[in-house]
Amino acid sequence: MSKATCPLCTETGGALVFQADKFRVIRADEVGFPAFYRVVWTQHVAEFSDLNASERALCMAVVCAVEQALRDHLHPTKINLAALGNVVAHLHWHVIARFDWDTHFPAPVWAGSARARDAAREAAVQQRQPLVEQDMLERLALM
Ligand SMILES: [Zn+2]
Repeated sequence: MSKATCPLCTETGGALVFQADKFRVIRADEVGFPAFYRVVWTQHVAEFSDLNASERALCMAVVCAVEQALRDHLHPTKINLAALGNVVAHLHWHVIARFDWDTHFPAPVWAGSARARDAAREAAVQQRQPLVEQDMLERLALM
């Protein structure tokens, strides 16, 4: 995948939460998952090991900050971290707050669903997005 055709080089990829030189944090628009964030590395690299040691440390610190904000404000059943890149081979980490009531739990979000959506609970999570994202901003501004 070249930079010219890479969707993470040519588009933001979601609602922009935080932008730094080396990375950005976006909220993904994934139906049924209102607390689904991605840490997108700015440079077009495919693999985590393409980063040098200090870049890897920064990337993981960012992932950790996003995770901690989700935990503090949403108290999810579990946080899922994943870096797949099979479809878009541009380094990005998924940071997903998972709830035992979400449609796919305990399977990965990419698997088949296990139950119907719980609109009220999804809405309750959505209502907390501003708090979560303000917390992320404060944590990320320190990096
Ligand atoms: Zn790219």
